[in-house]
Amino acid sequence: MTNRTSTSWIDVPPGHDFPLANLPFGIFSTADRTARPGMRLGDQVIDLSALQAAGLFEGLGLSAEVLSASALNPLMKLGKPTTVALRVRVQALFDSDSAELRDRPDLQASCLVSASSVTMHMPVEVGDYTDFYSSEDHARNVGKMFRDPENALLPNWKHMPVGYHGRASSIVVSGTPIRRPMGQTRPSVDQPPVFGPSRLLDFELEMAFVTFDGKTLGERITTAEAEEHIFGLVLFNDWSARDIQKWEYVPLGPFLGKNFGSSISPWIVTLEALDDLRVAGPKQEPEVLDYLKYEGDSHYDVPLEVEIIPEGDSSGQVVCRSNFRHMYWNMRQQLAHHTANGCNLRAGDMMASGTISGPEKGSFGSMLEISWRGTQPVAMPDGTERKFIQDGDTVVMRAPYFGEVSGVILPAQD
Ligand code: MN
Repeated sequence: MTNRTSTSWIDVPPGHDFPLANLPFGIFSTADRTARPGMRLGDQVIDLSALQAAGLFEGLGLSAEVLSASALNPLMKLGKPTTVALRVRVQALFDSDSAELRDRPDLQASCLVSASSVTMHMPVEVGDYTDFYSSEDHARNVGKMFRDPENALLPNWKHMPVGYHGRASSIVVSGTPIRRPMGQTRPSVDQPPVFGPSRLLDFELEMAFVTFDGKTLGERITTAEAEEHIFGLVLFNDWSARDIQKWEYVPLGPFLGKNFGSSISPWIVTLEALDDLRVAGPKQEPEVLDYLKYEGDSHYDVPLEVEIIPEGDSSGQVVCRSNFRHMYWNMRQQLAHHTANGCNLRAGDMMASGTISGPEKGSFGSMLEISWRGTQPVAMPDGTERKFIQDGDTVVMRAPYFGEVSGVILPAQD
C-alpha cells in the first residue's frame, strides 16, 4: 500500500489536497468526455474508463459500463474489496517507481485531464439521506439557546446518536447556487404566523459518509462490521432556515427548514485514505449499551474551516475553524444504531454527521452559534456584519484532502 511519503511521476506540490496517498473518487465531464468516474491526483483528473480501455485494470472485475457510468453507484455496488483494489492499482500506476504509464505519453494523453478543464457532477445518486446530531458542543449550544442552560442535552442524547431522515434529491454538488427559501414563520409569539423569504438563513458545517450496500432488510450491522460498509467521506453543508425550522419542528422534527438544499464537495475521500488521521474518540460517559461499544481509534483528525465571501469580493471572513475529531458519536456507532432495528442500507446512501462544533468560540459550526442567535454579529472585511447569511454571500467549507464545497445564496423567488 502506498504511504503518505510515496511520490508520483505527476508533480504534486507539498501540502496539496490531492497527493498520491489520497486519490479520491468523483464524476467529471469535459467538452469531449461525457460524465464518468475519475480520480484526482494533484491538478490532474484520471479518466478511469481510459485506463480500463487500455487494459490496465485486468483482473479487477471491472466492466466498461461501470467505469463509464454517470454516477459511482454501479462501482460501489461491487463492494469494498473492488474499490480498494482499484485504488491500490491506480496508486501503483502513478508511483514514481512505475514505468508502466510514466513512459507511455500516448496513454497519458487519453487518461489525464487538467482539473481546471473539468466540470464536476454529483459523485453518487443519493438513495437515502440521514442527518445525525453527533457533536456534543453543538447540541449543548443549541440546548442552552433554546431550552434550559442547566440541562442543555436532552435525556436521550448520551445514550444514542439521534438523527432524522432528510431529502436525498436536493443534495447538490459544490458550485450549485442555492435559492433562499420561502416559508412560514412566526417572528413574534404574540402575532400570527407569516409567509415570506427566510430571514435567518444559515449553514451547518458537517461531514457525510457514503455507504456501500448493507445487509438484507431485517439484519443489523455491528460497530465492528461498520467500516466494511463505508466507502468514503465528503464535506457537507446542511443549509438551514432557522426561522422556518423553529416554527415547524415540533413535534415531528426538521422539514422545510432543511430540505431546500444541501451541498457536498465533489471528491469522495475513501476511508482507507484517511487511515493515518485516526485518533481516539472522547470517553463516553455514561457507558453506552453493548451494541454501541467499539474498539480502537474511531475518530479522524481533519481540520475544517468555513469562510463567508460577500458578493463581488474574492475573499471574505473565516468564521469557523473546527475539526472532525470534535464528534461524540463516531461513524461506526451511527451505522450500528441506524441498522439496529434491521433498517437496510444501499450503495450511495449518505449519512451526515450533524453540525461539527468545537468547545471554544471560533470553532462553532453554524451562524446560529457563532452569532449566538443573532446577538453577536461577525464583522466582515468590507465593513458589513453578519448574523446570518445574506443574498449574494458565498459560503465555502474547506479541509485538507477534501478540497472545498461552496455555494452562493440567490434571492428568494416570491
Ligand atoms: Mn444538520
